[in-house]
Amino acid sequence: MADRPLIVGNWKMNGTRAMLSEARAIDRAAQRHMKVEVAIAPPYTLIHAVHREVEQIGVGAQDCHPGTDGAFTGDISATMLADAGAKFVIVGHSERRQGHGESNDLVKEKAQSALDAGMNVIMCCGEDEATRDAGKAAAFVSKQLKASLPAQIESAGEKLTVAYEPIWAIGTGKTATPEDIGAMHAEIRQLLIKLYGEEQGAEVRILYGGSVKPENAREILSVEDVNGALVGGASLTADSFMGIAIAAGDTLEA
Ligand code: PEP
Repeated sequence: MADRPLIVGNWKMNGTRAMLSEARAIDRAAQRHMKVEVAIAPPYTLIHAVHREVEQIGVGAQDCHPGTDGAFTGDISATMLADAGAKFVIVGHSERRQGHGESNDLVKEKAQSALDAGMNVIMCCGEDEATRDAGKAAAFVSKQLKASLPAQIESAGEKLTVAYEPIWAIGTGKTATPEDIGAMHAEIRQLLIKLYGEEQGAEVRILYGGSVKPENAREILSVEDVNGALVGGASLTADSFMGIAIAAGDTLEA
C-alpha cells in the first residue's frame, strides 16, 4: 500500500480563472505537507491553466469520452485531457451515472480510454439511500465495481484508485459511520485482490467521499483501508481543503 494518503478535490462545475489563486494556495500548502498526496480535478476549462500554475499537486479531469477523437460534439477525450496536463480522470461519479444515465459498461470504457492515454483512473462507486436501508449496500457496490472496472489493469496498484461515495452522503452534510465505511472498504479491498491479485489489489488506494470536511476528516481517515478522500464542496477553498489534507497527515502520526 502506498503510504501517502491521497486527498483529491472535485471542483465539479465550479471555477473560473479567478479560482486559479485558490489552486496556487492549495499548491503552496501542499508543498508544506508532503506526507500527503494532494490533487484537484477542476472543470475542463481550467485544467491546462491549473497545470501550468502548480508545481506539487496533481491535476486531473472529472470525466472523459470513451473514444479518442471524432464527431462527438461537446465531448472531450482522454487523449485531449492528457495533452492539457491531466494526470488522472475521475470516472463513474454518481452525478454522471445518475444525471447523465451512464451505465457500468460506459464507465468501464471511459476508464480504459483514460488508461490507454497514460492517465490514472479514479473509479467511483456507491449506493443510494434506499439500497443502504434495504441492507444491500455491499452487494450493490461489489456488483457495480465488478461491472465498471476493466478486467485487467497493468500496475493496477499505481494506476487505479477507487472512491467509495455513498450517494446519500454527497453534498448533504451526512456521512457514513466509521463502522460502515470500514466494512465497505474491507469489501472493496477483497474485491480488488480478487480482480488484480494479492499484491496489486492491496496497493490500490480506496478513498472515501461524501461530505468530508476538516471537522470529520481525521475520524474518517483513521478507519482501516481508508487511504484518502474524494472531496467536493470542501475542496473549493484552500483553507478547508488543506484542513482535510493536514488531518490526513495527522493520522500517519497518530
Ligand atoms: C463528491 O461529489 O465527490 C463529493 C464527495 O462531494 P461532497 O464532498 O460535497 O459531498
